[in-house]
Amino acid sequence: MKALLVKDTTKTLYIGECKDPVIGEEEVLVSVKATALNRADLLQKMGKYPPPPGESSIIGLEMAGVVERTGEKVTRWKPGDRVCALLAGGGYAEKVAVHEGLCLPLPEGMDFEEAAGIPEAFLTAYLNLFELGRLKSGDFCLIHAAASGVGTSAIQLALAAGAIPIATAGSNEKLELCRKLGAHYLINYREEDFAERVRDLTQGHGADVILDPVGASYFEKNLESVAVDGRWIVIGGMGGYEVEKVPLRSLMRKRASLIGSTLRSRRTEDKISLIEHFQDFSWKRFIDGDLSPVIDRVYSWKEANEAHSYMEQNKNLGKIVMTINE
Ligand code: NAP
Repeated sequence: MKALLVKDTTKTLYIGECKDPVIGEEEVLVSVKATALNRADLLQKMGKYPPPPGESSIIGLEMAGVVERTGEKVTRWKPGDRVCALLAGGGYAEKVAVHEGLCLPLPEGMDFEEAAGIPEAFLTAYLNLFELGRLKSGDFCLIHAAASGVGTSAIQLALAAGAIPIATAGSNEKLELCRKLGAHYLINYREEDFAERVRDLTQGHGADVILDPVGASYFEKNLESVAVDGRWIVIGGMGGYEVEKVPLRSLMRKRASLIGSTLRSRRTEDKISLIEHFQDFSWKRFIDGDLSPVIDRVYSWKEANEAHSYMEQNKNLGKIVMTINE
């Protein structure tokens, strides 16, 4: 099959030949129609985020396509089914092998390009807001990088749970998208001190849940912003990973939980259970249009380097999709 591979010297992507994936007895072979970009792909391309042991070395954490073949023990799918799936790798290719429990049916009326933008962003948001963050109705939910793939999913899920999303982003255009998605409060972090704004708009209460993909550069302000008994979940380090001072007394006084989280490295059985919960919560909402992946641009995989460059420059509002075509 063909797949997007990385040129060692230039760290650019090119379409090359590689072996077809071999399916296990609980896996399906999917003919990939569309995949979507994630921040992790940029790191993996540079050799900074290797796949977990035993997983495909091809980049790509999600895709949508058509089931081609099924392993002997597969019960849920048959050839011809339209699915999208969470992957630990392998999405940037014509074919991928994936455990049947990591696949979801395409929501009725949704095409492959849209569906490819669901799994990684929505499951990351769902896991961290609900299963780790225990977000509930009426909670203030501070969502950083809110116009990102994960952020736009998190705003929608927080609203669906009756929580109050507070969105931060680096431009008014991005904040306008967050407003359209229903975020109650908007903070341009380049122009305003988000900790001050959070304090004011919550009347001193703070954020019950913080979804933080930024890390070190936001550490002090997040500590100021988190509410008593708040849950602060670090899912990325776009602003660095090293923090000089960690004032534990403040964390204790607030009885706050600081939680680190990655989705990709979780055990397959944990991901399957997450996907079941997520499907129960969200599938009808996708079909009804209450939830929908925000797709900024669709590129052909022949334009993969342009697609990566667009993300590298922080230009995307929501997801960037790549179609896997001839
Ligand atoms: P994305 O769509 O590429 O959006 C990332 C946005 O973050 C950028 O457009 C930029 O928007 C903002 N940003 C970049 N550098 C920043 C900095 N230093 N300070 C503040 N904001 C910054 O990203 P994505 O693929 O949705 O991923 C979002 C984050 O979630 C990434 O950190 C990713 O690694 C993380 N993630 C974690 C997991 C996990 O399991 N832990 C899973 C998926 C994603 P502005 O213009 O608003 O600055």
